[in-house]
Amino acid sequence: MQNLAGILTDTAARIPDRPVLKLDDTTVTYSLLDAMSAKVAGVLADRGIEPGDRVALIMPNIPQMAFAYYGVLRYGAVVVPMNPLLKAREVAYHLQDSGAKLVFAWEGIAAEALGGAEEAGGIEVIPVDAGGFLQLLAEADPVIEVQDVDGEDIAVILYTSGTTGRPKGAALTHNNLVSNAEISRNLLHTLESDVIFGGLPFFHVFGQTSALNSAVMAGASISLLPRFDAGKALEIIERDGVTIFEGVPTMYVGMLRHPNLAATDVSTLRGAITGGSAMPLEVLHEFERVFGTQLLEGYGLSETSPVVSFNLPGPDRMAGSIGKAVDGMLVRVVDQDGADVPVGEVGELAVQGTGVMKGYWNNPEATQAAIPDGWFRTGDLGRVDEAGNIYIVDRKKDVILRGGYNVYPREVEEVLYEHPAVAEAAVIGVPDELHGEEIVAVVGLKEDVLPADDGARAALLAEIRDFAKDRLAAYKYPRRVLLTDALPKGPTGKILKREIRVDAAAGANEA
Ligand code: AMP
Repeated sequence: MQNLAGILTDTAARIPDRPVLKLDDTTVTYSLLDAMSAKVAGVLADRGIEPGDRVALIMPNIPQMAFAYYGVLRYGAVVVPMNPLLKAREVAYHLQDSGAKLVFAWEGIAAEALGGAEEAGGIEVIPVDAGGFLQLLAEADPVIEVQDVDGEDIAVILYTSGTTGRPKGAALTHNNLVSNAEISRNLLHTLESDVIFGGLPFFHVFGQTSALNSAVMAGASISLLPRFDAGKALEIIERDGVTIFEGVPTMYVGMLRHPNLAATDVSTLRGAITGGSAMPLEVLHEFERVFGTQLLEGYGLSETSPVVSFNLPGPDRMAGSIGKAVDGMLVRVVDQDGADVPVGEVGELAVQGTGVMKGYWNNPEATQAAIPDGWFRTGDLGRVDEAGNIYIVDRKKDVILRGGYNVYPREVEEVLYEHPAVAEAAVIGVPDELHGEEIVAVVGLKEDVLPADDGARAALLAEIRDFAKDRLAAYKYPRRVLLTDALPKGPTGKILKREIRVDAAAGANEA
């Protein structure tokens, strides 16, 4: 199979003058992206980088991120993308673990990147700013040729926390990523005329495959938003006539609750996809009603490049399911010993297929633990119905064990989202003497219902607790409901349950 960078050179040859990236007033055409990536490859050659060497990219979604991404691939080197919010010691860890030889770092993170590169042994950092970087590219001799690679060669190493321990590098091959770009493009029938919302970070697998690579393969254009903001997202939809919106559930919640929504023209949207974490059904239905287009849910992981399953458009779509396994991917539901559980029962999802990583970079033990028998263990609990629809029940590590019963937080969260005052909700287990763990809900309220005083607040939280109590078995409902301004979220907008801190007593902000 081809070098992943070949998807860019093919499209650039076909439709050179089409816009591929748009950021505010800047538009980048396919031919410009192609030329800039050849220049980046030239910079690598100047620095003595060899094919197979790792090159770190620390950038938000700006055009230079795409220049560097395809430039490194084109050269046959390996991209190690990193979140621009990382601090110096985290940068150092990623650089050391991947053995990176060179770093391209956005000016906004320059100090942390420089500190991290220093700590990692004095690795060269090329600052990416508006002027100097373009000057550097202007002076470089382009490497036009796309390096021949074996499809099984590593293209990208994506650091992910996985289920335990320090971040591990999921080593994804050219085959993994080309096949997944194809899957994403085909699922949405992405066309040259499509305008894709580019607010999912390209350093994460969802944005990288489903937005960047699949758009480039299709010849579509991407409207970039370097830091997600619901109001800006709405502005971009109207300004650029976005046709496909891609986001994690919290992005949809943010837009639905935004005061500018009613005045925004969203009629150009022809579809929306979500993934990365569970989409509450209530939000899904509200989005479809308000935006007038289908919202389709997919499921995947960094280790699977990412798409495992997708809930396809059409009459068979089962809302609340993550759909069926996509072409090229197989899904089983297994017990602790790796044996299939009976149809309909809950077990761990195990997958095999074109997207599954080669392994964790330089970590054979972790690879063996994750892929003990040719089937990658996702760490997610789920079930599959007779028709092959997959339902995620929860993450294995998020299950709450209360008084001997398993409680799946997601089920409780679904109920909380049904309450009209709840904007966002997370359910966690906290240590409890009597029950082992106790169920606690942390909720954010919709702005228009925010209670004016302590008494009203306590009453509303108690009402939410009773609402859940009426709808759930006695061992499942949250004994405490706490109010928060905003739940902690990761770079893609996923709610970070492990960062939620629950005080022994939260006073007026608790029921
Ligand atoms: P990451 O490697 O950061 O993409 O995280 C992968 C994890 O996100 C999976 O193991 C799931 O726990 C979660 N996830 C992804 N898609 C979904 C979905 N549609 N529903 C529920 N959880 C999801």
